[in-house]
Amino acid sequence: MNILVLNAGSSSLKFQIIRTDLEMIEKAQDEMLAKGLIERIGSQALISFQVVGKPQFKNAVPIRDHRDALNYALAWITNPETDIPGIKNTTDINAIGHRVVHGGEDFTTSIRIDQTVIKSIEDNIDLAPLHNPPNLKGIYAARDIFGANTPQVAVFDTAFHSTMPEVSFLYGIPYQLYRRFKIRKYGFHGTSHRYIGYRYRILEGIPRDKVNIITLHLGNGASACAIKAGHSIDTSMGMSPLDGLMMGTRSGDLDPQVVEFIAHKENSTLSEVIQLLNKRSGMLGISGLTHDMRDLESEWNEYKDRRAKLAIDMFCGKIKKYVGGYMAEMGGVDAICFSAGIGENSSLTRKLSLEGLEFLGIKIDDKKNKEIIGGKEGVISAKDSKIKVYVIPTNEELILARDTCRVVLNAPLP
Ligand code: AMP
Repeated sequence: MNILVLNAGSSSLKFQIIRTDLEMIEKAQDEMLAKGLIERIGSQALISFQVVGKPQFKNAVPIRDHRDALNYALAWITNPETDIPGIKNTTDINAIGHRVVHGGEDFTTSIRIDQTVIKSIEDNIDLAPLHNPPNLKGIYAARDIFGANTPQVAVFDTAFHSTMPEVSFLYGIPYQLYRRFKIRKYGFHGTSHRYIGYRYRILEGIPRDKVNIITLHLGNGASACAIKAGHSIDTSMGMSPLDGLMMGTRSGDLDPQVVEFIAHKENSTLSEVIQLLNKRSGMLGISGLTHDMRDLESEWNEYKDRRAKLAIDMFCGKIKKYVGGYMAEMGGVDAICFSAGIGENSSLTRKLSLEGLEFLGIKIDDKKNKEIIGGKEGVISAKDSKIKVYVIPTNEELILARDTCRVVLNAPLP
């Protein structure tokens, strides 16, 4: 099957075309054929598309909305000059998989999209006002362009964490608030944590119920996940992606009293404070320079900028606290796995966040840590480290394509 995987953001549309079927999944022979990104939808959009093994196609064109963006991408995908093997027109795309950020308590697994599913995703907008509306735009656009005959599947960021027990997902607030409004921790990046767990068990050659690890998805958004016997039992993001680790521009954990205090002192509304905590906090807020780890590292290396270092130290310090906390919660782990932009590339972050944890059996091999960057996969712990430390480049699109294939074929989901 040729699956079109779509990830629609507020002003962007990312896609991949992945060929897979049940046998290819079993043998891990799924094939990514092409990928693309359209940024700045709504104005002069930036295009970068690529067929695997061929040079990138780049362009800048005005694109009005997500529907226009999808049409533009499909014109390229089906252009004979693009020459994607097996794809000549849109009917060669057998199904579409959509990333949907928030499934609330309604969706604990991937599901075929129909009118009822769309309505439930719309009902969950309350819980994810920044994320679900753009995801829905991708679904509406695909439905308009492909019609009802091409199956569409929703894969939720929250679904992997639906196995968290009450003791992990409840906040210490009146239980009635959970009952009435579903206020609880949902967790995000679930598709990524799930992929890392899957990849770890393939690398180790063990069954799913033997996966006892901590996964660290460290990108612009960052979260940690405690995976016990193959299931998420705790994660650092909460009802929204603002909670947990400190991030590029998000504060992470915070005393809720601070929100009212800032609003009072700055004479701002609650929404303005939340905006500040989402967009102007985290490493950007602390450094006063940038949210970007590459730039923070060079500010520290080249100019010894104190606050750039402070931002890095706070980011890594928080990771360390979550690692220690989850190890206690799980009664020990077999491995810690780093992933996403920072986790895959920043040896400094990996070193600082696990430094001093030798007493827990965690020991990094400095040479390997420096070598495994730029999309490489491998072990960075020392031979005598009791706990293995892995770098596993994430691949959310693969999970999206596989779930889409399974749902369409009515095959069991893992
Ligand atoms: P993501 O959200 O997964 O795309 O990750 C983005 C983050 O990864 C940004 O903070 C980048 O600065 C960081 N990143 C990407 N490449 C590197 C690198 N070579 N060294 C340090 N950080 C990096």
